[in-house]
Amino acid sequence: MNNECRCGSGKQHRNAYDGYGIYLCKVCDECENKKLSAYRSDIMDRYDADEPIDSDYSDGSDGYREWN
Ligand SMILES: [Zn+2]
Repeated sequence: MNNECRCGSGKQHRNAYDGYGIYLCKVCDECENKKLSAYRSDIMDRYDADEPIDSDYSDGSDGYREWN
């Protein structure tokens, strides 16, 4: 079995998944940040867009205060 990462580090690779559990690529400790940064820039945009929407619903009491 050849578990060496293709980046040339010689370290064992592992499967990397995004926040949705979707397989992205094989990475190791050496190249994980570099490879995943290309995916995360897009993935994190989606998370950032989701969070304010959730907090708006849960913070309904704050909106109510503005009526007084
Ligand atoms: Zn690697």
